Amino acid sequence: MSMEGRTCVVTGSARGIGRGIAEHLGQEGANVVINYRSSEGAAHEAIAAIEDAGGEAVAARADVTDRDEVEAMRDLCHEAFGPVDVLVNNAGMTADTQFAKMSREEWDRVMDVNLGGMFNCTQTFYDDIWNAHEGRLINISSVVGKQGNFGQANYAAAKSGMFGFTRTIALELAQGGSTANCVAPGFTKTDMLETVPEHVLERIISGIPLERLAEIEDVAAVVRFLASEDSSYVTGEVIDVNGGMDL
Ligand code: NAP
Repeated sequence: MSMEGRTCVVTGSARGIGRGIAEHLGQEGANVVINYRSSEGAAHEAIAAIEDAGGEAVAARADVTDRDEVEAMRDLCHEAFGPVDVLVNNAGMTADTQFAKMSREEWDRVMDVNLGGMFNCTQTFYDDIWNAHEGRLINISSVVGKQGNFGQANYAAAKSGMFGFTRTIALELAQGGSTANCVAPGFTKTDMLETVPEHVLERIISGIPLERLAEIEDVAAVVRFLASEDSSYVTGEVIDVNGGMDL
């Protein structure tokens, strides 16, 4: 599954799942753009890890909700590596609260980052992906987009919105030979779970047939497959990586 010579942008890749994805792609020989918004130090650590594994990476600061910053990231990427072959829309956030108490601001912020960020990045890199030999768009959704989750009406709405978006872009990209897919991870050991109380995590784990949370590597390995040429005939899909949560 060599990614030699392929250029990949992974949003929100200084830490968490995005970092795992970026490192997997870098280890396979891809040129990687590490996008960050606030985690500059961690972005440079991610670059060092990729370089140690023999890959090449650059850091690009851009808030995905800001179109001008996303376009500046594209220019930086073009200068460093040329056009993009693979875009992974990974940047995401939560603002949990029961719906009855949810503010419009909490709703808008979650839509802005998870869906608005995906819109900005996909449109900015669309021509690159279209023109690439087998370009790849990969959107990181969530099991919550399928099942819903108490206190996450905003996040669930955003993450299930990614499914319809992905299927539509898959149809539009197909004429040029590129693909679009979604990955829907289950609960994964990152900072995002830090606000979830221990007793809630225990309840979640008791409902997972494989009886554990996802490791970052579980998700990154599936993204690496979707980014590779081995996935040429897979498009418009939502791939669950959730330990069997919906069995
Ligand atoms: P995380 O550890 O909280 O990291 C969030 C990442 O998103 C950070 O790299 C952050 O960058 C970036 N980010 C947030 N807002 C951004 C913005 N406006 N512009 C650019 N980057 C932004 O999250 P994670 O757990 O790795 O989650 C990654 C993705 O997987 C998200 O889309 C999340 O919804 C999804 N997911 C997570 C889980 C889970 O259980 N962890 C399960 C299913 C799906 P900075 O640090 O630079 O600000």
